Amino acid sequence: MRWYFAPEYDYGRNLPQHQAVHGFILDKPSRIRRHLITADVANESDFERPAPVDEAEVSEVHEPGVVFDLRDAYAISRAVEFDALALLPAETVWEAVVSPQLHACGGTCDGLRAAADGEWAINLSGGFHHARPDLAHGSCLVNDLALAVARLEREGAMRPILVVDLDLHQGDGNATFFAKDDRVFTFSMHEQAAFPVPKMQSDLDVGLPQKTGDDDYLERLELALAEIDERFTPEVVVYVAGSDPFEHDPLGSLQLSLEGLTERDRRVARYAAKHDCGLVVLPAGGYSDQSAALTAAGFAEIAAVANEARGG
Ligand SMILES: [Zn+2]
Repeated sequence: MRWYFAPEYDYGRNLPQHQAVHGFILDKPSRIRRHLITADVANESDFERPAPVDEAEVSEVHEPGVVFDLRDAYAISRAVEFDALALLPAETVWEAVVSPQLHACGGTCDGLRAAADGEWAINLSGGFHHARPDLAHGSCLVNDLALAVARLEREGAMRPILVVDLDLHQGDGNATFFAKDDRVFTFSMHEQAAFPVPKMQSDLDVGLPQKTGDDDYLERLELALAEIDERFTPEVVVYVAGSDPFEHDPLGSLQLSLEGLTERDRRVARYAAKHDCGLVVLPAGGYSDQSAALTAAGFAEIAAVANEARGG
């Protein structure tokens, strides 16, 4: 198992606490890491520290306006839905919000590269699945998966990739980026009434009603994975493992328990193991104060599957 983390993943390290960015748990990557170490899932020395992607690389996948807006405090404040950021100097907003996402993108790139060689990788940030080629929104400024796929292509290491996006919110950015790419199959299962509206079309979308609980959710997941088996043969699974379907998440109305979420993660990992795929896992959303612990618990399940099914 490969682990990716940098202290720069945390948001707002340069901000006073009272300027905490709405909707983000600022130090969630660090919190996930601490949970993993405390639970003996990973050691401090296990974490590789990726280099951030730069704006030149971003400009290879995004429209110029998206790249330009990375230096614009007002545009960033809109994309992350936190108005107060617009009043801060652009450099301050860059350090607080943009730089953390560019560092996380580096981890997704490194993780996908490892997965293309058949390894399993977990990045402690990333899963910016709302960022479209021409639009930063839903707190996603740049699309880490699009950047990682572009880098794979440059390195001649492209593989058939299955995106399993189980974040509460539809992966409209990933759906848009890969709409015409037969080598990337996008599957999103999400709360139908939640952001974004309207939805974009993935290769397979499952829109769930509000209050969907563990049993129905896991059954729909099994049905979807069975359908994918008939439509696509992946060599790499990218798992967008948002913890926001959790029953106490403030942004959603799905009702998965902790046990339901960890079972979900176990099933995706077993799917990847059964198909002998490389795997890269991205935390994506999760907004309750338990979300770091939930994500770490899910990552522990995935690491356990790696140990039992793949010998580490
Ligand atoms: Zn989400």
